[in-house]
Amino acid sequence: MSDKELADLIFPNITKTIADYEAIYPKRDLEAGAKVTRFAPSPTGFVHIGNLLQALLDYYLAKNSNGIFYLRNEDTDTKREVDTAVDKIMEVLDYVGFQPDEYEYRGKIVGNYGPYVQSERKEIYHAFIKHLIEIGRAYPCFCTTEELDVMRKKQEAKKSRIGYYGGWAKCRDLTNEERAERIKNGEEYVIRFKSLGNYNRKVQFDDLVTGTIEFPENDLDHIIMKSSDFLPTYHFAHVVDDHLMHTTHVVRGQEWISSVPFHIELFSAFGFEQPKYIHNSLLLKQEDGVRRKISKRKDPEALMSYYIEKGYPKEAVIESLMTILNSNYEEWRDENPDKSYLEFEFDPHKVGTSGALYDLDKLDNISKNLISRMDKETVYNNLEEYTKVYDNEFHKIITKNPDYTKSVLNIEREQEKPRKDFACWSDVKEQIWYMFDELYQPQNFEWMKITELDEIKRILGKYMTEYFDESDDKDTWFDKIKEMSTELGYAANMKDYKKNPENYLGSVADISTVLRVAITSKSKTPDLYEIMRLLGKDRIISRIDIL
Ligand code: GLU
Repeated sequence: MSDKELADLIFPNITKTIADYEAIYPKRDLEAGAKVTRFAPSPTGFVHIGNLLQALLDYYLAKNSNGIFYLRNEDTDTKREVDTAVDKIMEVLDYVGFQPDEYEYRGKIVGNYGPYVQSERKEIYHAFIKHLIEIGRAYPCFCTTEELDVMRKKQEAKKSRIGYYGGWAKCRDLTNEERAERIKNGEEYVIRFKSLGNYNRKVQFDDLVTGTIEFPENDLDHIIMKSSDFLPTYHFAHVVDDHLMHTTHVVRGQEWISSVPFHIELFSAFGFEQPKYIHNSLLLKQEDGVRRKISKRKDPEALMSYYIEKGYPKEAVIESLMTILNSNYEEWRDENPDKSYLEFEFDPHKVGTSGALYDLDKLDNISKNLISRMDKETVYNNLEEYTKVYDNEFHKIITKNPDYTKSVLNIEREQEKPRKDFACWSDVKEQIWYMFDELYQPQNFEWMKITELDEIKRILGKYMTEYFDESDDKDTWFDKIKEMSTELGYAANMKDYKKNPENYLGSVADISTVLRVAITSKSKTPDLYEIMRLLGKDRIISRIDIL
């Protein structure tokens, strides 16, 4: 029985050939140098920050070269699949703004190279597997799990390399007649690739980031099609897909690097050109002086849902990842504060290869700076959108009077040294709640140095009866506070107080603190004058009256 006859027996209904598919998915019409990249997550139900780093590089490489960035759903491992996983992936891409040029979502296919969901490409994979059987580079394997266990134990006992190769590959040497017979008898089988590699020879491979790497050749007869659902394994599927979708650059996690020799052999068995690879390093976290992998079980920040739910501006997340991708990014950003990150010239040699430190404090810093430069309209719009989804009660409050909310958000904003107390939209409420009567509740007063209630009342009484005037400008307002300080036995400036503290009950800072806490319930706020101006006389009086 010929290999061709065996292939027909296994795939009787597959009539299309590789050439047919190559005609259906012709070379893309792109300008020279344009890169075609893909984000190819498995639908496991979460998107790791490391996946996003890959997606960012994919997106960047495509956009920076007028190429194509597409989304492929790698769902061949049905055991790991989660129903809402694709929604989550789309939500993340939408959040960061990496709109794929081609994708498939809820039955809609956008692009000419689909389907973009691997489980819908079974027929295509079968045509490619059929071809390998026809040319004697793939065969059915009937070994049961038990038989493979026995083989493994024997290998261990003999201290041999573990795996299905050479003399260990039992089904490799069956005749086609035996194969056909067992298939007709209904025996279960997988399809294995027939490796021609030699473990004692070396194969070289160029990773754009890591550089040239040398491995022993692959000699394992890996499974390329599973018995349970006749779906291909990742290794096989990605070769077919990246070939037909004309991917030029593959960015993926470092865990795939050891499979590269197998992938090289697969591509060459078909005579296909291999895409360029970037295996990006793990993201690490520093904890108690020790660096470890960011883990989705231990670290909430490992998952993209964390950033979305906290309301980090996407630009901050992207900036913080760009600083990880290229060591010279920060310097470039300092020189080009207003350019899009897409204009940056990525240099693969400037990517760290040994694991990059991911630091939430750094993200917070980037984000605080970014938000501090936004004008009040932008801040308001972002806050409005965020609270609509994540804090309905607050949303109602801030949208009741948008102009008032914008004025609140504008305190110490749109100025040379703006406030920097919001890292994400969920931080805002904690910093401004006291400006809204619905949320205002006198807290346990943070009186700092001044603790005597009588003294507090004396200060506030005097201020309200003799000094407070809503129409004062900022200088007059502050001059009055200083004047009152002196009258009440407090130093009108810190210098005097520090020189002779024994001469005073306290300083003007203590007086301001009393006013601040009485009006806002907080000992630290932005500009008190602005706060008082926005609250207005009646609300100030009613807050002070509670005391
Ligand atoms: N589905 C693979 C993963 O999620 C993708 C690897 C690749 O991009 O080729 O790890």
